[in-house]
Amino acid sequence: MTDLRRRRAVQQLFVAGAAGVANAAGLALPLFVRDARAADAPLFPYGIASGSPTATSVVLWTRLAPATSGEGGPGPGGGDAVAAAAAGEVPVTWEVAADEAFKSIVARGSDVARAGDAHTLHVEVAGLEPSRWYWYRFAARGQRSASGRTRTAPAPEAAVARLDFAIASCQRWDHGHWAAWRDAAAAGASPQLDLVLFLGDYIYEYASPPNAVRAHTGGAATTLAGYRDRYAQYKTDPLLQAAHAAAPWIVIWDDHEVENDYAGLQGERLQPDFAARRVAAYRAWWEHMPLPHSLRPLSANGGAATIHGRLDWGTLARLQWIDDRQFRDPQLCPRADRGGGSNTVPLRDCPGLVRETARTLLGAAQERWLAEGWSLAHPWNLLAQQTLMARFTREAVSERALPGTDPAAMQGRYWTDGWDGYPWARQRLLSVLAERKVPGAVVLGGDVHANYVADLRVDPDDATAPFVATEFCGTSISSRGSSQSSVDAALRFNPHIHYGRSQERGYMRFALTKDRLEADLRVVAQPNDPASAVVSAARFVVEAGRAGAVRAG
Ligand code: FE
Ligand code: CA
Repeated sequence: MTDLRRRRAVQQLFVAGAAGVANAAGLALPLFVRDARAADAPLFPYGIASGSPTATSVVLWTRLAPATSGEGGPGPGGGDAVAAAAAGEVPVTWEVAADEAFKSIVARGSDVARAGDAHTLHVEVAGLEPSRWYWYRFAARGQRSASGRTRTAPAPEAAVARLDFAIASCQRWDHGHWAAWRDAAAAGASPQLDLVLFLGDYIYEYASPPNAVRAHTGGAATTLAGYRDRYAQYKTDPLLQAAHAAAPWIVIWDDHEVENDYAGLQGERLQPDFAARRVAAYRAWWEHMPLPHSLRPLSANGGAATIHGRLDWGTLARLQWIDDRQFRDPQLCPRADRGGGSNTVPLRDCPGLVRETARTLLGAAQERWLAEGWSLAHPWNLLAQQTLMARFTREAVSERALPGTDPAAMQGRYWTDGWDGYPWARQRLLSVLAERKVPGAVVLGGDVHANYVADLRVDPDDATAPFVATEFCGTSISSRGSSQSSVDAALRFNPHIHYGRSQERGYMRFALTKDRLEADLRVVAQPNDPASAVVSAARFVVEAGRAGAVRAG
């Protein structure tokens, strides 16, 4: 028994004792049944989470590790192998309190963790009061989970003074540690976060290279068992667990929850069996996120799932989140025998980028849903999506790259997996903002492993056109970025991008009021050190009614 395992066993015995007391007090906790072997196997090694809040409900999540041998819990095969061996259902109770000490229980219930869902739970707690903080925890087999803090959204008509939220993305396990999450979870100088928006790349599907900071367990995830084990490994990180326990999350996926740079049902290497892989990956993603049962992907219909959504934060802001992977057209101009990802092309060699005007990143239905969803009644419209929306050319553009279709006038060099690979889809989206005069449009993104702050015009090269939105594309929690010199070389061709730093790891936090949005770019000093300091690299402000970011520190 390692020191860590011994310490866990002691902790669990302590918790079991507490559960016994609670049971005597009349709570509907399971009977205290355990043996010495079970005491060595924490039942809740993956932590807890909450998310998908509305004004009256929230989803509570956990995953159990019902060990059947002395070496249960996380680790190689710890997910599916153990779950399958358990071959059973584990009754679980949950409770929600109005206070951190769980003295005032406002809701409780029971559920069953099933092997068929990797023993994950998605408890939809309804009937809660708007704009309130709650605490929650689970219990099973005489063990109790950690407790978490969550909240409901304000009522739609409620006047709200302030929203504190964060955006984060791209937590590649084998690229570094996650001190950023400690900072996000902490109640420090800043108010605690009301909401975390996770914008994709929660896991990475790859096998780890030999020089990894900490290695992925197992090879590349391609099957349901493989994805479950990958989530299980990521979920053991105590800093990630702390961030989940601190606030509700709204989650969307990007590519690595399935495979790098996939597009719809096309894999990176054009694998004939990619559809089955996507079904497995979407299923495992749902299992491990605090999402309602209604979002559980079905194996039929290619495992399709509707993950876009919207939420009004009182009268302060409308938040919308979208899916740029499932419904996109394939990237243009791929390399031989490949899907279209990981590819940067000169526009003159890929004229389809500007000629194929109907190509879509969101799919027609979602594009329409978004176009109709902007609010003219809120001072702020936040769009949580996956990647950098600002035009980012790596070669000079002296005239407008769009909408010209003369090859001689086609300028710039673009990464085809991002919005630059779908310039007409981007123009349609931004044109809606301009035509409807959508107030306070702020685009939030991730994916590119760099901090970018940008002002968005319908035509980025028309210096006389007004800005229609402000963009904050947050860097990765841990995934490595490109060289700063390559970013610097490109920034001079993209004057609408104020800030571009690819060597920063971290996340962005925001304070939103009726009058202004304040952005704080939180950066990890030592990405290989879980105890690293996290500091503010820059601050920006957006004033209500005036699109565009202004450096504030
Ligand atoms: Fe990433
Ligand atoms: Ca990505």
